[in-house]
Amino acid sequence: MIHGLLSRRDVGSAHLAVISAGSFDFTPREYSPPAGSRSSLGTGPSMETVRAGLCSLYVETDGVRVIIDPVQFGEDEDVPLANLVATPGLDAGLEALGTDPMSIDYVLLTHGHFDHCSGVLQGANSSRVRFPNATHVLRVEDWAEGGLSEEWRRPLLNYLKPVEEAGLLRIIGSHSYEVSERLILIHAPGETPGHCVVQIAEGAAYYLGDLVHIPAESKWIGWAAGSHDRDLGKMIDSRRMFLRQVAETRAVCVFTHAPFPGWGMFRSVADDQWQWDPVVEGGKPPSGGITRGQEFA
Ligand SMILES: [Zn+2]
Repeated sequence: MIHGLLSRRDVGSAHLAVISAGSFDFTPREYSPPAGSRSSLGTGPSMETVRAGLCSLYVETDGVRVIIDPVQFGEDEDVPLANLVATPGLDAGLEALGTDPMSIDYVLLTHGHFDHCSGVLQGANSSRVRFPNATHVLRVEDWAEGGLSEEWRRPLLNYLKPVEEAGLLRIIGSHSYEVSERLILIHAPGETPGHCVVQIAEGAAYYLGDLVHIPAESKWIGWAAGSHDRDLGKMIDSRRMFLRQVAETRAVCVFTHAPFPGWGMFRSVADDQWQWDPVVEGGKPPSGGITRGQEFA
């Protein structure tokens, strides 16, 4: 499953596909939560290393083709992700879907971290834009100077300057941005000041970006991996709001670092605690049941 590339699912009238850029080792113990942040929210998740995914999402709905968080790393690329195993990536994924980068209309970035936008260029040492006909959307807080810390801003500029120079970057500031009626980028700050989630198919599906990084964070919403850009208070508020919503509506969810194939649902298990139930391919759907779509990976 680690080397899986593509997993399709139809939700309502939207055609969705997770395209995986690979997987890496994520060790919670490498990060310490801010002092005192766990005391009222439980003792925190397991400290064991988990295998985390790099899931981009392709969406086709209302006549537009969209890539959310295009991630890709080349074999020879020096990437600060432990034991990264990369797949052939976006172009291969799109080809398997019968389409190509030229036909993508929008690239939505949930936030400005490199592991969510590295695929906007055709390789680390290239300044060629991968999706030359796409409007690339990012919130202003992550783009403006002083938004992200220097450590994260530098790679963001490396990846997005060529996009800006090609006239393809759209910086947004409103609370939500409608690509279409059934595809809406919604501000969900915390991970970064401009972090967003994407509502798809009138809320039947969501792409959650880094609202949570690993499943344990939905159970321990005060827990978060280390980053200087994080506002933990806002992150807890965003997690509470969106996890409650997707659990109540039984929305199909993908978060970027979910293990491939990335699909699952959240279910409330206690006050302020949600359980991530991944869809196991070839197995039974999680309780509550995903009735839409099928696995093709
Ligand atoms: Zn991330």
